Formats: sequence, structure tokens, C-alpha cells
Amino acid sequence: MNDGLNLQGILDRTASDCRTMTGGGRQATYIPELAKTDTALFSLSAATLDGSVFSSGDSDSLFSMQSMSKVVALSFALEIFGHDYVFARVGMEPCSEPFNSIMKLEMTSSTPLNPFINSGSIVLAGMIEDRLGERAIDDLLKFASGMTGRRGGLKVNERVYMSESSTADRNRALAYFMHSVGTLPFGVEESLSLYFKLCSIDVRTDDLAVMGSTLANAGLNPVTEERMISIDTAYTVTGLMSVCGLYDESGEFAVKVGVPAKSGVSGGIVCAAPGRMGLAVFSPPLDKGGNSVAGVKALSRLSRELKLRGM
Ligand code: GLN
Repeated sequence: MNDGLNLQGILDRTASDCRTMTGGGRQATYIPELAKTDTALFSLSAATLDGSVFSSGDSDSLFSMQSMSKVVALSFALEIFGHDYVFARVGMEPCSEPFNSIMKLEMTSSTPLNPFINSGSIVLAGMIEDRLGERAIDDLLKFASGMTGRRGGLKVNERVYMSESSTADRNRALAYFMHSVGTLPFGVEESLSLYFKLCSIDVRTDDLAVMGSTLANAGLNPVTEERMISIDTAYTVTGLMSVCGLYDESGEFAVKVGVPAKSGVSGGIVCAAPGRMGLAVFSPPLDKGGNSVAGVKALSRLSRELKLRGM
């Protein structure tokens, strides 16, 4: 399924060419624990639909999922609540503001524009917490482990969780605002706590590449051969990744890379090239939109070289 490509060689070359292409980027510091990240790290992985996984660079590096966990929350919520319940509470339109903006919430109907900005994912965390209570994080970790095929299971990084939870004025403002207007009809602190835990799940790029390949393979994890989500959920999640995955830089990313993807402020980006493969990159320096500078460059090259747009 890797079309006879020397995928390992392509990843090695891309990693060595792109790892220093971080010009102008700075790692996230608003979560104090992320400010401690080694900005020189770079890792790249690909997972093909025949279940092969390739990695290059600092591929043992663990980093928190941050907003890439919004893919996990949406997939899980769609599986347990269904499309109509989820999309009655969050929209499915791109957002032209930063991921933690409060402006659109107040100006529009107060319903989050989509599930891949903070307000949308806080609402999803709230509905999951409301339904599952204390079981929620364990069930989500099991689900995320299944999406990534990680043996032994993924874990929450408690240091990142505490760091984020104790400095989250902006996310608290979003959540309390939504609660005040009725669009977050769940316990605010409970919703936020689950949201922060999701953002703090530690992963490597190989985990994320396999998660991308599960989405690219219409919901069947090609490594474990376990069906994780329905075909419809995979279509919905990848569809939204195409239009909202890189916040207010999603349009530019569509031009440069053209593959469904989701970024996080830890410096990771997970991609799902439907019918082809999952890809993931990690490089902490971010551009002004909160997306990995070298990560976008590496994916742009890979998209061309591997013809991931299908042409
Ligand atoms: N945990 C981060 C936050 O809530 C996630 C943001 C991101 O990765 N873009 O601010």
C-alpha cells in the first residue's frame, strides 16, 4: 500500500532537510510546562494502510496532544452520541479567529463555530463528562489508545495537566461565558478538567500517524485491524479537519498541503490522507496561528512528493 515508495528514505530526507526550518517560530509559553520543551526536537512518522509504520528524527520524543486531542473528543462523541446530538451543540464551519477567541461566541449564537476550536472541544468534553462521569477519562484514554494502536495505553501527563489547569484563565472565560448563555449546560469545572486532561495526553509521532491512518482507512485501525469508528464518523472528522484543522490558517494549509490535518500548540500536526496514509510531525516552534513552522514545511514537501492530493 505504500506504492513501492521508499517511505523510510523519503522521511529521513525530509526530516534532515526540514528540522531546522523553524525560522520565526517560537514555542508556546502560555502553558508554563510547554515553555520547557526542547525546541530543537523534530520527529516525523508515516503509517500506511497495510499497517506499516515508519519514523525519522527524534521519534522517541513524547509531547502532549494539545488540540490534536480535539480529533479524539469529536470521534468519541460522534460514536456515543451520534451526529445530530453533537452538531446541535457545536457548528461545522471554519473560524477566522484564533483558537481561543471569545469574540465570535459573543457575536454569533454563542454556539461554538466548530469542534476544533477550544470552545467547541470544551462543549464536547462537557457532554462526555456529563454522560460518563468519573469513567470519562479512562474511556477516552482507552479509545485514544485504540485509535493510535499504542500498546500499554496512552497516559495523561500530570505535569502538563496541572500546568494548564492552573493557568487557564482564557479557557475558563470561554467556558463560563458559554455556561452563562446556556450553550455549555454542564458543570463548568468538570468540563474544563476533562478538556485539560485530553490536551495533556502524551504521544509520539508514530502514535499520531497511526491515528491518522485509522481515519484515512475509514475508521479501521490498519495496525491492530480493530474498527474504532464508523465510516460516517471518519468522513465527518476528516471533513472538518480539512476546513478547520489549523484554526485561522486552515485555508493556507489547504493550499500548501491539501490534506485533512489537526495541529496542537505542543508543535504536533496529525494528518489523514484518505485512502493513502496517516502522517505526523513534531517540531515545537510555532507560527502566529499556533501551528508548527517546520511541521507545515515538512508536510508540504511530503504532500507533493507522495502525491497525497491524488495528482
Ligand atoms: N490546551 C490548549 C489550550 O486550550 C490547546 C490549544 C491548541 O493546541 N491550539 O489552549
